[in-house]
Amino acid sequence: MVGHKTIDQIKEMIRRISDAKRLLIVSDKNTQRIAGDRIHKILAGAGYEIDTVTLSLPIIKKNIPPAWPSIKEVDLVLKKAKKFDTELFLGVGGGSVIDVTKVAACELSKKFVSIPTSAAHDGMASPRASLKDKKGSLSKTADSPIAVLADTEIISKAPYRMLASGCADVISNISAVKDWELAHRLKNEEFSTFAASLSETSSQLLLEKAEDIRSGLEEAVWQAVKCMIVSGVAMSVAGNTRPASGAEHMFSHMLDRIAPGRAMHGEQCGVGAIMMMYLHGEDWEEIRDALETLGAPTTANELKIPKKKIIEALLRAQEIRPERYTILGEQGLTEDAAKKLAKITGVI
Ligand SMILES: [Zn+2]
Repeated sequence: MVGHKTIDQIKEMIRRISDAKRLLIVSDKNTQRIAGDRIHKILAGAGYEIDTVTLSLPIIKKNIPPAWPSIKEVDLVLKKAKKFDTELFLGVGGGSVIDVTKVAACELSKKFVSIPTSAAHDGMASPRASLKDKKGSLSKTADSPIAVLADTEIISKAPYRMLASGCADVISNISAVKDWELAHRLKNEEFSTFAASLSETSSQLLLEKAEDIRSGLEEAVWQAVKCMIVSGVAMSVAGNTRPASGAEHMFSHMLDRIAPGRAMHGEQCGVGAIMMMYLHGEDWEEIRDALETLGAPTTANELKIPKKKIIEALLRAQEIRPERYTILGEQGLTEDAAKKLAKITGVI
């Protein structure tokens, strides 16, 4: 459910999708204030038993990327959920809160509802979660939400940088699908035409609408969030992240390891997609132009990441998931090729 003031319809939505009576609301201090308290009030008024967990994730300020949540946060939610005998989880917040809720609910084999208050990546509807481990970041399999409730009024008040990052994440699906097709042809990997076209449609739409999205208006948020949800659904259809995660995501995850806390996930994936599309011999300039129009980074400088870290991430990207075949092949790039790639595409 995506639209203006959809939060007010939370009661009707829960009734329609679940018989659960004991609900756990997971949020952080900021998102509790923005939406969690209101949801709590509506549902408590409707006779539901509610418990809450407020995670202490850093409040996101302009120009500061959110920190990845860790297994510590998941454990906190699990402890509360077991004690309360939770029947249904509600994740109210940005990507981190939703990912923590997703993993905790899956651990207890319970359903969860995703209630994004910002839209910085496509995780709000996907079956994967990103958590921090000792090495940097880690992608974990969980279940998709039973429903997504996205209030465009709330999301439009989040910093525009987050929305642009979410759009860049979806736009990067184009190179992910190219990698998937390659793996299908070269390694006979299972391929779903339906999942691939869902994923491509969501990115194509954002490529075309980049100009409108830039306005940051509620209408733009509506369009962008729908695409992020479709991207998540594509992953559910495929049963893996192939439709939305290829070499550009490995590049981004490697940056999380070697240059953490500088740029956002979607921003890094967008820049990765420019370079991977060049390697595929596809229209990389179209991706770059759309990202520029959106106001998302297209260079190392804009990512605030040193050039040598970009090269290192290109060289080491396939270490993230060696079993996932992409345009980087099994050996990856040579140093000369990586430098050339980053220079030609204007990233460094
Ligand atoms: Zn992503």
